[in-house]
Amino acid sequence: MNAGSETAGDTDLDQIREAVRALCADFPGEYWREKDRERAYPQEFVTALTESGFLACLIPEEYGGSGLDITHAGAILEEIQRAGCNGGACHAQMYTMGTILRHGSDEQKQHWLPKIASGELRLQAFGVTEPTSGTDTLSLRTTAVKKGDKYIVNGQKVWTSRAEYSDLMLLLARTTPKDQVEKRTDGLSVMVVDMQAAKNNGLTIRPLETMMNHSSCEVFFDDVEVPAENLIGLEGKGFRYIIDGMNAERILIAHECIGDGRWFIDKGTAYAKDRNVFGRPIGQNQGIQFPIARAYAHIESANLMVKEAARKFDAGEPCGPEANMSKMLASEAAWEAAEMCVQTHGGFGFAAEYDVERKFRETRLYQVAPISTNLILGYIGEHVLGLPRSY
Ligand SMILES: Cc1cc2nc3c(=O)[nH]c(=O)nc-3n(C[C@H](O)[C@H](O)[C@H](O)COP(=O)(O)OP(=O)(O)OC[C@H]3O[C@@H](n4cnc5c(N)ncnc54)[C@H](O)[C@@H]3O)c2cc1C
Repeated sequence: MNAGSETAGDTDLDQIREAVRALCADFPGEYWREKDRERAYPQEFVTALTESGFLACLIPEEYGGSGLDITHAGAILEEIQRAGCNGGACHAQMYTMGTILRHGSDEQKQHWLPKIASGELRLQAFGVTEPTSGTDTLSLRTTAVKKGDKYIVNGQKVWTSRAEYSDLMLLLARTTPKDQVEKRTDGLSVMVVDMQAAKNNGLTIRPLETMMNHSSCEVFFDDVEVPAENLIGLEGKGFRYIIDGMNAERILIAHECIGDGRWFIDKGTAYAKDRNVFGRPIGQNQGIQFPIARAYAHIESANLMVKEAARKFDAGEPCGPEANMSKMLASEAAWEAAEMCVQTHGGFGFAAEYDVERKFRETRLYQVAPISTNLILGYIGEHVLGLPRSY
């Protein structure tokens, strides 16, 4: 399969989009409503995506994946969201392995990647955020202390999504105390934690109740032993490795937001044409029509930035500003579309059976996670515009 970037009439991309739509058709609103109501993991959907190979699209062919690029991976996630499904249940299985791929040893890649590609191993838990440090990652407190051929991990993570449904976790922990490092970004290390093995050996997972069905958890480490051979790259350089993976994550989440926005626009437009009040379709009123048109214009313009970020990433060009701007613009445009869709539906926007309120709750997340809008603005201010550092 040709893995080139998206161009008009790209047959591969069209075929992938169509295949994703066909898969998602088996998971209609009723399915997601029930999972949402019960806060249950959409295992059937995740199994179908795994078996289709879509979740292994970024893994090179030599390790059992399809070796596609971000443009193609993004198209998959966008179509999932546009179909009304929720890729948040498993999107991290696509990209968390990127840290092993880019910074792991040949042995580590041979050991983990084929099993991640087949779905035998799920690497979709990412342990960075902690309750006290929040966005200030360099202040995280979880420690990994080397003893012989093991690291002993102690501390706590929060908002570790899918922790209950993952075999492995990519963990960022402090291996050198903050006051003993030369560079402030040194002293943190990345390691792969075998969560199944650790569960009865000091690892406790506690699900968090949230406004949408996202399987997010608190994770506690009490003398959890991690084999030293699970360290990725060099000890103390983990922060760099995590930062390296962030552009890919932001571009992919931005695609999901574009998919969400298009779902809201499709849904709002259809309802505005269909719903008659005062003897005419509500969409004939400019007060209803214009917010839909405005949301459409904003989603399409955000999409141009998303495509440009993906193009640069796939070409191996620096794309920090574009990746950040695409995530910010797409998440804001999706939220505007969500707001429009609720308003267009009037009272029915609040009725679960229309799925609008569920998607409204789900799409709100992306202005906060995986990075909040303020931090993106701070990045643009400092790194693009040369303004004084604000954090
Ligand atoms: C559902 C969900 C799933 C998540 N999944 C994961 C996961 O799988 N793995 C993981 O590691 N994390 C995960 N996160 C965590 C997420 O990345 C963080 O919530 C997010 O980065 C914000 O961090 P915080 O919540 O600690 O906010 P804080 O850092 O406490 O910030 C609170 C608010 O203050 C603002 N703020 C803070 N400092 C500044 C500043 N200097 N200038 C301007 N504004 C500032 C922030 O932008 C934010 O709006 C998830 C979060 C949620 C809600």
